Amino acid sequence: MTTTTATILDGNSIAAQIRAEVAEQVRLLSASGRRPGLAVIIAGDHPASEIYVRNKIRACQEVGIHSEKIAPPASVTTAELLATVAELNRRDDIDGILVQLPLPPQVDAQQVLLAVAPEKDVDGFHPVNMGNLITRRPTLVPCTPAGIMEILLRSHIPIASRRAVVVGRSLVVGKPMALLLLNHDATVTICHSKTRDLAEICRQADILVSAIGQPGLITDKFIKPGATVIDVGMNRVTDKQVFRQLFAGDAVREKAFQEKGFTLVGDVHPRVNEMAGALTPVPGGVGPLTIAMLMENTVKAHRLRLNANRGGMR
Ligand code: NDP
Repeated sequence: MTTTTATILDGNSIAAQIRAEVAEQVRLLSASGRRPGLAVIIAGDHPASEIYVRNKIRACQEVGIHSEKIAPPASVTTAELLATVAELNRRDDIDGILVQLPLPPQVDAQQVLLAVAPEKDVDGFHPVNMGNLITRRPTLVPCTPAGIMEILLRSHIPIASRRAVVVGRSLVVGKPMALLLLNHDATVTICHSKTRDLAEICRQADILVSAIGQPGLITDKFIKPGATVIDVGMNRVTDKQVFRQLFAGDAVREKAFQEKGFTLVGDVHPRVNEMAGALTPVPGGVGPLTIAMLMENTVKAHRLRLNANRGGMR
């Protein structure tokens, strides 16, 4: 049997393109009116959240978006956070509000997220924005699935009339991903942990998106030869045995694993490379798009608000 190697869909270069386009839009908007602004609320002491927020603020600085980090103490109450969100909702210079999760345990996170004005909900999780996505109205779409659409469209992967399978049904990735593919005329199946015959369903996919969080679960048995495979999973593997099952024979990765004590792995097994037509790597595939799309959403929120002020969203 001859083996081929999948085309690697380079998320870093697509994200760089998008950031450059956003920077240009920010420059034009700033020259003609007001600079778009993003506020990020981070409460409590979460080292991982700190890193995510730092990266988001840095991305804002790179594209010229005004950014504010609001960091109440870990003892903050739901009422205090609601007041903070209400103030940001009122401010005209803030286009996007992002509440970094998790919030401290005493806070009702759902209540805080629902309080964000839908037109400033740059994460796209608000039920109003989800409803807009279902009804195909202009809206703010969750960043990760929006970024995956950019990868597919900019890589000229055909979508209309193709079979797409999305594994995972979270609000953050799986469900909006399925809706976006459907809105682009794919025939879509959504799978989850209770799905029977997962491999068989996945094997029908021209486009397979995996967002489950299980290292290497999607093996070559799940892949239709030539399919486009989008690996959203971001899993930290520290177990040597799991590492060897996934990367036996990959001396470069093994050296890095021994030095760092972990490696980042997607949901997709590395051997899938020989079966797929195109594949997003982990890291360097979907990940870089998420922050690029947050920047894009902030500019989009700015424009949608401008249009709404001029007489209705278009
Ligand atoms: P969730 O845990 O919210 O959802 C996981 C989904 O996968 C659920 O719908 C679950 O099913 C399903 N699932 C879990 N195990 C299986 C299985 N064995 N077979 C079939 N379905 C399964 O995760 P998220 O959607 O938030 O994230 C998914 C992955 O994507 C994670 O690894 C996360 O780190 C990564 N991620 C990466 C991002 C990036 O920027 N690269 C951004 C966001 C997420 P059920 O509903 O039945 O429980």
